[in-house]
Amino acid sequence: MKKNYVYADNAATTPMSEAAVKAMLPWLTEEFGNPSSMYSLAAKPQTALATAREAVAAVIGADPAEIFFTSGGTESDNWALRGAAYGAEKKGRHIITSAIEHHAVLEPLEQLEREGFELTVLKPDAFGRIDPEAVRAAIRPDTCLCSIMTANNEVGTIQPIAEIGAICREFGVTFHTDAVQAMGHIPVDVEDMQVDLLSASAHKFNGPKGVGFLYVRRGTRLKNLIHGGGQEKRRRSGTENVGGIMAMATALTEAVANMREEYIRLSAMRDRLIAGVLQMPETVLTGHPTERLPGIASFSIRYIEGESIILSLDIAGIAASSGSACSTASLDPSHVLTSMGLSHEEAHGSLRLSLGRYNTEEDVDRILQALPPIVEKLRAMSPVWKSKK
Ligand SMILES: *Cc1c(COP(=O)(O)O)cnc(C)c1O
Repeated sequence: MKKNYVYADNAATTPMSEAAVKAMLPWLTEEFGNPSSMYSLAAKPQTALATAREAVAAVIGADPAEIFFTSGGTESDNWALRGAAYGAEKKGRHIITSAIEHHAVLEPLEQLEREGFELTVLKPDAFGRIDPEAVRAAIRPDTCLCSIMTANNEVGTIQPIAEIGAICREFGVTFHTDAVQAMGHIPVDVEDMQVDLLSASAHKFNGPKGVGFLYVRRGTRLKNLIHGGGQEKRRRSGTENVGGIMAMATALTEAVANMREEYIRLSAMRDRLIAGVLQMPETVLTGHPTERLPGIASFSIRYIEGESIILSLDIAGIAASSGSACSTASLDPSHVLTSMGLSHEEAHGSLRLSLGRYNTEEDVDRILQALPPIVEKLRAMSPVWKSKK
């Protein structure tokens, strides 16, 4: 990364840790063997996969046999939702989810709706939280699946997953959670959370892009999504990304070993950012004031466009985001913010600053110095702002 560049978009992706890069390299060169082959060159990659599976399982309190490697968060979500919907369709074709899910959950669910499933989309409160009692009220005899994310990628709000999991279990409803933003940053344990399916992605915790995993509780009815050579115990075909998987396991083990310390360090920096940004007039925090990820500070800065703030921050050498990275190509305001009750106008002024492993207190200083003059300048050009004054 360029020197003097402040990267504050860790919710979009993170740089790989040195240890993760080191763990990846041998599998790309000397130890390139296909883990499914029978000769000795395959032995080491085979053992490596087993080791990585054990490491990942240990982190989330699962059995190694319940971990399946995938190409990332999007695939894990698609597999979990399509696989579980068709796996449990004998029970019924009703699915419960929330309005603040990532597109990797909402889009496959909308596809299932076109295929004849029925969706109930729960609205969050103003802080982005889903009420477990709303999940209970939405459950019907024909509900086959419920999917609620562990923590939101735009506003950082953490959901009461254990309570929702207990309710789903009480009614025999398969429960999936997209834990992509939470993994490696806050404790994730499949027993505490009472989940049946859990998605994760390596590039959100300083691992490589294009690799992730799906946790599948033993006994969960799940159809296969990707068919082929029968890898991953005939559940997910395709030659395993051995280097990526080893790097992911290393990055996750590292993240969990440093989690307590990082949580304290990042949340202190996040709170200083929040306090500083809220000094500006007509600026509000979006998401939950306390139940939020340690690295995510998100705001609505009224009377200006989030996109213009991002471009001006970029010129000042700061990478931030407005809404989610995946939806910046569209001009629609964030579905997360509007479902939390923000007006389109407020949602357009959204700014997300997400901190990670390599951010320092100096980065926070740089952001707090650069942002107010940018906002002032942009507002000076805004006719709405002028008419307010
Ligand atoms: C990034 C992200 C995804 C998608 O993961 P990829 O590995 O990029 O496919 C899914 N859900 C959430 C909440 C995310 O933040």
